[in-house]
Amino acid sequence: MLGSAAGGGVPQWNCNCRVCRLAWRGDQRVRPRTQASLALSVDGSDWALLNASIDLRQQILATPALQPKGEGRHSPIAAIVLTNAEIDSAAGLLALRERQPLAVFATEATLAAIAANRMFDAIDRSVAPRRAVRLGETFEPLPGLRLELFAVPGKVPLWLEEGEIKTGEIGEGAVGVAVEGGGARLVYAPGCAHVTEELKARAGDADVLFFDGTLFADDEMITNGLGDKTGRRMGHMPVTGPGGTLEAFARHTSLRRILIHINNSNPILIEGSAEEAKVKAAGWEVAFDGMEIGL
Ligand SMILES: [Zn+2]
Repeated sequence: MLGSAAGGGVPQWNCNCRVCRLAWRGDQRVRPRTQASLALSVDGSDWALLNASIDLRQQILATPALQPKGEGRHSPIAAIVLTNAEIDSAAGLLALRERQPLAVFATEATLAAIAANRMFDAIDRSVAPRRAVRLGETFEPLPGLRLELFAVPGKVPLWLEEGEIKTGEIGEGAVGVAVEGGGARLVYAPGCAHVTEELKARAGDADVLFFDGTLFADDEMITNGLGDKTGRRMGHMPVTGPGGTLEAFARHTSLRRILIHINNSNPILIEGSAEEAKVKAAGWEVAFDGMEIGL
């Protein structure tokens, strides 16, 4: 787990909410967190990243397995898989522009959004090719690591929003990742507006689910005076409340369930809080940077 927070990280540079205030003070109950990304490996030497957050350089500094080995130019990072074109998911590509061979996998819609922004041309396509993946198509970013992208309800990236915004759209714009390797399966869905039957079925087949833990309550940004949007308007279903994450996966009791992409306003980030106790009692873990999961 390279990063476990939503956009802005914890603490967020311009925020003094209940959680960020504790983090700024160095209170041990709130661990600082970088923006969400998961690194996958089958053999421990080559790695594929699920999303490239704008904290990627800091995450590499904190992760010896991702640092250069041998002499001269090298990186254990062989592939990047993008679940959407949001800044906190994709802008980390800009930190990888030093002509390092790697492959970038995403849906055609996500690649088109990136292609429309010329700054990303700094990542030379002749050494870092972009590979469009169809929904439901199996691909191997690393030998022995099989991935499938599947649609989850979501919306266009914030920086592409205009006009009326549909937040539960199913298409190529927001996807989850189903991963299979070494006989183990995991599902990664850092942004999801509501749980579909397909997602429930895929989670039922998995050993581990990493799921959207952005907000504890749908109106959390509003009640904390941090913004005027509900979680659902941002394309993220809340952890609690009717139709929330705890309710949606209440029957997946044999599945290891981990909340990721956690916004700095979310009180589950305060260790020992009633909100953290509530998600733990429901069988969920709260992700933290540096968390390692062996399957
Ligand atoms: Zn905050």
